[in-house]
Amino acid sequence: MRIIRTPQEMHEWTRDTHEHDRIVGFVPTMGALHAGHSRLIDIARGECNAVVVSIFVNSLQFNRSDDFESYPRTFDADVTLCEARGVDILYAPSTSAMYTPSFQTTVTPGALAATLEGEGRPGHFGGVTTVVTKLFNAVTPQRAYFGQKDFQQLAVIKKMVVDLDFAVQIVAVPTVRDEDGLALSSRNARLSHADRVAAAALYRALSGARSAYVAGQKDASALIDLALDELNREPRARVEYVRVVDSETCVDLERVSDRATIALAVWFGDVRLVDNVSFGH
Ligand code: AMP
Repeated sequence: MRIIRTPQEMHEWTRDTHEHDRIVGFVPTMGALHAGHSRLIDIARGECNAVVVSIFVNSLQFNRSDDFESYPRTFDADVTLCEARGVDILYAPSTSAMYTPSFQTTVTPGALAATLEGEGRPGHFGGVTTVVTKLFNAVTPQRAYFGQKDFQQLAVIKKMVVDLDFAVQIVAVPTVRDEDGLALSSRNARLSHADRVAAAALYRALSGARSAYVAGQKDASALIDLALDELNREPRARVEYVRVVDSETCVDLERVSDRATIALAVWFGDVRLVDNVSFGH
């Protein structure tokens, strides 16, 4: 596996790779890799001739500097994981290589990015679309892999790719969960033991709402109340929101269908966790 540190060096590899007609699969990450990331990498490995993983903690998408600074960084372990999974290129540019002092051009998403996560984290998705554009330009993959765990991010990226004519196919990968249902996340490493145990309430709340939907409850506020009841039984959890939205537009819904998703953001101490479950398949 080769580690590449600059967009220029990445471009050179990309030019050479495309001359050999290879299908490039790309997995963008912020590092602190876990089995959720591994799933994305394994799927890319199975579908493409060359796999590029990027690790870049993108300052532009953090609206709180303490969150950026405390974001887990485990580069050596990440290198080992990527090598073990047959990654060809680990693209790990520095912040200064990505954002020079005179950097000023950004990609601004539309209404889709203003709701849900965009409300509590202003500017977040603009940071995501800007960095993903830069990464796509450097790597020029035919396929790029994103987790459904961040389903609004997935929707924003899909929209950007269509709106701005990127020649890349976006592949959605289902959420990988721990045994108690907690979605794997780099942020889980920052939970205390007691909070980690308590965080199982998130999936109980989401899957309880999904079961009620399958049993016939189609009223969004009733499903939200069910999820809130479950979360409120856990005194360590501080709920920021539980919402039922259209899976593509992220607009709040009153009546639920298979096109809907129930999404939540919950705090444990100073750690903010997000998760969602689709009411479809
Ligand atoms: P991150 O490093 O958290 O920015 O995530 C990088 C990519 O991995 C994103 O597309 C995430 O949606 C995806 N991802 C993170 N956690 C999981 C998970 N538990 N299951 C599936 N994909 C995930």
